[in-house]
Amino acid sequence: MLTPNLHYAELKDSYLFARIAEKTAAYCEGHPGTYLLRMGIGDVSQPLCPAVIAALHEAVEDQAHKERFHGYLPECGAPFLRESIAAYYGKRGVAVAPEEVFVSGGASDELGHILDLFDPGAAALIPEPAYPAYVDANVMSGRRIAHLPTGRAQGFLPEPEAVPGAELIYLCSPNNPTGAVYTRAQLRQWVEYAHAHKACIIYDAAYEAYIRSAALPRSIFEIAGAETCAIEVNSFSKTAGFTGVRCSWVIVPRALMQDGISLHRLWKRRQATKYNGTSYIVQRGAAAVFTPAGQQQVQRDIDAYMENAVMIRDALEVSGVFSTGGTHAPYVWMQCPHGMRSWDCFDSLLKRFGIISAPGAGFGAQGEGWLRFSSFGSRETIEKAAKRLADMDWDAFAVFAGADVRL
Ligand code: PLP
Repeated sequence: MLTPNLHYAELKDSYLFARIAEKTAAYCEGHPGTYLLRMGIGDVSQPLCPAVIAALHEAVEDQAHKERFHGYLPECGAPFLRESIAAYYGKRGVAVAPEEVFVSGGASDELGHILDLFDPGAAALIPEPAYPAYVDANVMSGRRIAHLPTGRAQGFLPEPEAVPGAELIYLCSPNNPTGAVYTRAQLRQWVEYAHAHKACIIYDAAYEAYIRSAALPRSIFEIAGAETCAIEVNSFSKTAGFTGVRCSWVIVPRALMQDGISLHRLWKRRQATKYNGTSYIVQRGAAAVFTPAGQQQVQRDIDAYMENAVMIRDALEVSGVFSTGGTHAPYVWMQCPHGMRSWDCFDSLLKRFGIISAPGAGFGAQGEGWLRFSSFGSRETIEKAAKRLADMDWDAFAVFAGADVRL
């Protein structure tokens, strides 16, 4: 008898964002016509920028002409895009060769696929709260997970902590969901730790474009020695609105070896078999992000999302509830009032105020008692939500929700 992968039974019943979508749909069914303020899932609301749209149109046109048509492209990425991405790092003084850039169809996918490089016996070290895909991908592959808890006292930025056998370290900065960002000194500690423990860092830089300070690192490769202990995953989703178009990249340095074996070579070999390349049209659109016009235009959208984040944070401050994030990240992380549980707070915000958030408990046990607000909504949505949040009487809110409130 063929046995299915029983590790799926160890997953939570449903993926966080699927559960939010289900609850929202159920609410809408019972309250037709309600205008909801959607700040749950981190999906963008701005359309693709003009430079990308022009490149996409041109690429579609290429496909209509025999002499310009493209079939399969190199599975690791079209040279024009790999060069543009390498040059993007180069501008910040980070030496990345085009061959070290692997273009792909989404960072979520790659955060799981990358596990193909490592022995199934190697456990993952996941600082939490964390983007749920890290845990789920590791659970599905039957890998042991060491959960590294972090909280408000540490600014949601855990320091390295020795966990025997946990050699695959997931770091996300700026962090989803907390919005916390590592400094260079803090990342240096992790790089030193990885070297000392012969571990590999899987660095998720999906939100690097939201960092507003040149003093903060936007890539793990800004840290000396990272090229021999880290892989970086990045995405066009939040930087350039590609959530629906799908394009990402992974940097696997040539110098990255484990046990004398080149991970760069393994990844290249893996991609050649399991990935037939990203669509030509999509890669043309992605390359346009790095043109001067593209950079200027995506920056405008990022600035607008960050203005939204500031509005949300200011509103929460006015209403007297603790929040963090939203300074170098498009997420604001709020502590639920009166020790309320995340899903209770989520339900009450939805039912009473039409606000959709993301319950912190969905990002791991450490997220219980917190909520995440996404600033990717339209300006209209965020302005309305900020007004409601600023006027919020959290004591009354908690009483209404049945929390154990001692006023
Ligand atoms: N990494 C983090 C931390 C994210 O929040 C997301 C998406 O929300 C991703 C990766 C995935 O991005 P993609 O759309 O490229 O799959």
